Formats: sequence, structure tokens, C-alpha cells
Amino acid sequence: MSDHSDDDPPPGRPIADATRVVTAGRRPEWTGGIVNPPVWRASTILYDTVADLRAGLAGDSHHRLFYGRRGTPTQWSLADALTELEPGAAGTFLYPSGVAAVAAALLAVLSPGDELLLVDSAYDPTRAMADGLLKRMGIATRYYDPLIGGGIAELIGERTRAVFLESPGSLTLEIQDVPAITAAARVRGCVTLLDNTWATPLNFRAIEHGVDLAILACTKYVVGHSDAMLGSVTATPELWPCLLSTSRQLGQVASPDDCWLASRGLRTMAIRLKQHETSALRIARWLAARPQVAEVLHPALPDHPGHDLWRRDFTGASGLFSFTLNGGTDAARTALIDDLRLFGIGYSWGGFESLALPVDPHRHRIVAKRPQAGPMVRLQIGLEDPDDLIADLDAGLARFAATT
Ligand SMILES: *Cc1c(COP(=O)(O)O)cnc(C)c1O
Repeated sequence: MSDHSDDDPPPGRPIADATRVVTAGRRPEWTGGIVNPPVWRASTILYDTVADLRAGLAGDSHHRLFYGRRGTPTQWSLADALTELEPGAAGTFLYPSGVAAVAAALLAVLSPGDELLLVDSAYDPTRAMADGLLKRMGIATRYYDPLIGGGIAELIGERTRAVFLESPGSLTLEIQDVPAITAAARVRGCVTLLDNTWATPLNFRAIEHGVDLAILACTKYVVGHSDAMLGSVTATPELWPCLLSTSRQLGQVASPDDCWLASRGLRTMAIRLKQHETSALRIARWLAARPQVAEVLHPALPDHPGHDLWRRDFTGASGLFSFTLNGGTDAARTALIDDLRLFGIGYSWGGFESLALPVDPHRHRIVAKRPQAGPMVRLQIGLEDPDDLIADLDAGLARFAATT
């Protein structure tokens, strides 16, 4: 565990997140006076003597140069920074993708015969893990409604070992009552895992809200520049030893080059998120007033069903939301998206550039199906001028109307 005494705020004045992302993970004993860790690549690390080698084997090699798979200051610094951003956390493990982080977190806590409660609005590859590898290992999954709140208690049975949350939900942005769910799970001895990729620890402090394992696809806002893949899991003191040993047994190691890009991205994450939030909210409000749009799914809008929970628990929004069109066909939606000039068509999000994606969230859902007035589009609002983005969408909505 790290000693952050150099960064501790003066008494009575907590350090702000914008400051924390600048200083987090900076450890002079690892990187000297260099303000952002450079790329330290390594596999073999040499010892002076056989005695030194044996001493290395005997102790805990965490945060000591041991062998490349155990990382170098490049990875340690980023992991430490992410731990600092989650008050109450004991440690963070890094993975080569967000999906790898989800998989390791689930494998850290589940065993054959266990049951997993998985939110029905979870990211599709998380479902694929539950319905594929976990099922094959004899771990059953029950899907639950994202709006269940404290009602989760009724679903927790003798075999239930873990509850997986994602808030807001993928594509449809339902807000979960995280404190109610984590409290109900804790009373019954269940572990909670939360995919916090949308909010990041800057807009939602997962561990403080009772979560045991907080997962990030760092590919999105931490990297922030659409040029690297990375995932992380941040754990409470109780869960950290288990997460660490499982992740090591799985042989997981995140590339130092990708961690370096993520450390670079992290320094500007607070200011980028603010701009993503401001621009996305402006565009969401603009869309909500268009006749071609039936519904805008953005938790910061007052008529969003999870708006009150969002206001209670989150300190901000990010740049990803969806909207449903008012009637219309898939061909009309395609006409809207295909000829957008500034919005790219592609997966992922959280980078500097805007994206538009046709999504059909209710195809795989079991308990959280909702009627939809028309086809749905997910937008990632980047750092372009929002007026330019609005003009682009305006032309797209005209194409939609002409095709219907
Ligand atoms: C993208 C994403 C992931 C997976 O991250 P990758 O780095 O693409 O593997 C996990 N959860 C959510 C909510 C995501 O949007």
C-alpha cells in the first residue's frame, strides 16, 4: 500500500479532483523528479547474487522490480493514481482491456456452484462472459432490473455470491440505487462489483457508495484519445488480496506503453470530462426539443427516470447518451448516421472525437425491456465545438425525416 503523505491536503481542506489527477501516482522513489512516468519496458530483471534472487522470491514482490510481469514504475504509478481517486480503496490492478478487467474481477470472487446477479442493462461482453465462460464453470447468472434498488434483497439466495452493477446502464442509461443495492448485498455476505466506466471516479466514487470492486474501461476517458486499450479494477482492503492473487494467476499484465498513454490521459481527465459534460448536455437538450426525437436518455435531464438518484450520488455527467427517434425505420436511422460529417461511426467512446452508433438494446434483455417509439442512436460527444455538432445532427435529422 502506498504512503501518500506528500500529497495529503492541509487539514480541513480536501484536495479537489482536478488537482488530484495532476499529482496522483507521482512517487519520487520510483521516477525521481519526472512529473509523468516514462515507459519502463522489462521482462528480465537482474539480481546481483543468488541470495538477492532468493530474497526476491521470499517477500511480496508488489511494487518492487522482480520480473516484467509484475510491472515497472510505469504501471505502478498509474495503478496507484487510480487507487488515490477512489477514497477507501486499497489497490488497483491493470489489465490489457476493460473486458479483461471485468473477467478478472468476476473470476476473483466466483466459484463453481455460485450464483451471480447481473444487471440486465450491462455491457454486452459482460453478459457474454456470464452466459459463456461463467456458465461453463458451473456459475449461474440471474439478470435483474436496473431499477430494482433495495428490492435486490429478495433475489439474493443461498448460492448468490456476487451482484454486478453498471450505472448508468449501457445504451439505455438507467441509474441504479447503488447504496441500497450494496447495503442489501453486504448484509447477506455478497460481494458487489460495479462497472464505473461512464462516470469514472471523478463523477461517482464507487467504493464510498459501498462497492467492493470498481471496474473501469480505461480505454474510454482515462486514455481519452482513442489510441490504446486498458482496463482496471480497484478494490477495498477486504477484496484486494483476492483480486491481486487471481489476476497474477491469470497472468495479466498491462503493457507499459499503454499505461504510459493512460497516465498521460489521466492528467487532463478532469478538464476533458467537464467539457464532454457541458457539450453533451447542451446537445441532449437541443435534441429533446426536436420533433423527430421521441426521448433523450441522459440522466442529467430532469425527466430522466433516474435523475433524482443521479443528483444524489453523482457529481457530474460525461459525454455519452442515447436518444430514440420518433417512429421511423432502420433505413431512416441509417440515413441520419451515414452522412454525418463530424460524428464517426465506430465502437468505443471517451475519446476526443464524436461518434454515432445505431443501437438496439432490447434485443438481448430479459427483465429490463422497455417500449421504444423508434430506432435508437447512441452519441459520444467529443471535444469539437458543440454548435458544429448540432449543425451536423440537424442535417441528419432532416435526412431522417425525408426518409421516413
Ligand atoms: C468499452 C466498455 C468496456 C470494455 O472496455 P474495452 O477496453 O473495450 O475492453 C466495459 N464496460 C463498458 C461500460 C464499456 O463501455
